[in-house]
Amino acid sequence: SEPVGVCGQIIPWNFPLYMFSWKIGPALTTGNTVVIKPSELTPLTALHVAGLSKEAGFPDGVLNVLPGFGSNAGAAIAAHMDIDKIAFTGSTAVGKLIQSEAGRSNGKRVTLECGGKSPLVVLDDADLDLAVKYAHEGIFFNTGQCCCASSRVFVQEKIYDAFVQKSAQLAASRKVGDPFSEEIQMGPQIDLKQFKKTLGLIGKGVEEGAKLEAGGEKAADVGYFVKPTVFSNVTDDMTIAKEEIFGPVQSILKFKTFEEAIDRGNNNPYGLASGIFTKDLEKAIQFSQLSQAGSVWVNTYLALTSQLPFGGFKQSGFGRENGEDGLHEYLETKTVAIAISQKHS
Ligand code: NAP
Ligand code: MG
Repeated sequence: SEPVGVCGQIIPWNFPLYMFSWKIGPALTTGNTVVIKPSELTPLTALHVAGLSKEAGFPDGVLNVLPGFGSNAGAAIAAHMDIDKIAFTGSTAVGKLIQSEAGRSNGKRVTLECGGKSPLVVLDDADLDLAVKYAHEGIFFNTGQCCCASSRVFVQEKIYDAFVQKSAQLAASRKVGDPFSEEIQMGPQIDLKQFKKTLGLIGKGVEEGAKLEAGGEKAADVGYFVKPTVFSNVTDDMTIAKEEIFGPVQSILKFKTFEEAIDRGNNNPYGLASGIFTKDLEKAIQFSQLSQAGSVWVNTYLALTSQLPFGGFKQSGFGRENGEDGLHEYLETKTVAIAISQKHS
C-alpha cells in the first residue's frame, strides 16, 4: 500500500480537539499530507495544535489548517482537482453535498461520518440503575451535542415506569452552568441557532403529545443553557423520535417484545450506533447481529477508543475512523504483477 496523497478534511465544532486528532492521526501515520478545515465556530483549537506541530518539528506543508466557512473554504476543498481524498464529519445533508462535489471534480475518495439517531434498548432483565446511568450519560454528555448520542431509549414495558422516574430524577439533578467550573456537569449549547433548535424541538415534543418529565426550558437568563430534558410516552412517529436534536433531550419509548425493539431501533435512516442493556448473552449477541449500526455497545455506551473502528451504516456515512480499518481509508492498494522470463532448458 501507499499513501493516497493530499487529504482534505472537514470537521464540525462539537469536539474540536477529538475530531481533529481522529482525522489527522491516521492520515499522517500512513504518510499523507493534510489540508484540514475546522468549524468556523471553533477554529482556534486546530490552529493551536498546528502551532504545536511546528514546534515539534513537522516539516512545512504536511499539516495545513485552513479556517473559513463551509460554503467557501469547505466547498473549495471538496471541489479541488489536486486533493486526492476527502474525509468529512458533520451533518448528513452536507455529507451528501461533499460526495457529489467529489464526483463532479476529480472523483476523489470520500469517507463520511454523519449524524445519528441512535437507539439504546433496555430489556427488563437489565441492571436498572446501570442502564439509567448509561442512558443518561449517553444523551447528556457534551450537552447532547454528540453524533452517537443515545437519543432514542427503548425500555421494556415491565420496567418502563421505574426507568422513567429514575431518569427524570437524574436529569433534574444534573448541574448546568459554566463548563470551566469543576462541579458543573453540563454547559450551554454551542450557539443561538442550536439553542433555538433544541427549544423548538422540545416544544414540538409537547405539542405532539409526549409527556415532559424533567426540564423543558432554558436553564438561565443569559447564555444558551437548556435544562436536561426528559420525555416519556414518546412514539416513533413524533418529531423528537425522528430528528437529530443535538441537544440535551432524552426520549424514552416503550416496547413489549425484543423483536419489536430491534425493528423499531432499525427503522430510521441513520445507523451510527446502538446499545443494549441485558443480562441475557444470547439476546445481546442477536441484537449485535441484527442492529444496523456501525458501533453496538452491550451493557455500556459511548465506548470509544482509538483501537475500535467507528463509523456509520446507512445515512450515517461510510468508511471507518480509528482501528486498523481507519488506516486503510488513507492507503491506496497497489497490485504489482511481475512476469518472470520462462526459459525452458
Ligand atoms: P455541518 O453543518 O455539516 O458542518 C460540518 C463542517 O462542514 C463544518 O466545518 C462546516 O463549515 C462544513 N461545511 C458546511 N457546509 C459545507 C459545504 N457546502 N461544503 C463543505 N463544507 C461545508 O455540521 P454541524 O452542524 O457543524 O455539526 C453537527 C452535525 O455533525 C450533526 O448532524 C452531527 O451528527 C454531525 N457529527 C457527526 C459526527 C460523526 O462522527 N459521525 C461527529 C460530530 C458531528 P462551517 O464552519 O461553515 O460550519
Ligand atoms: Mg452547520
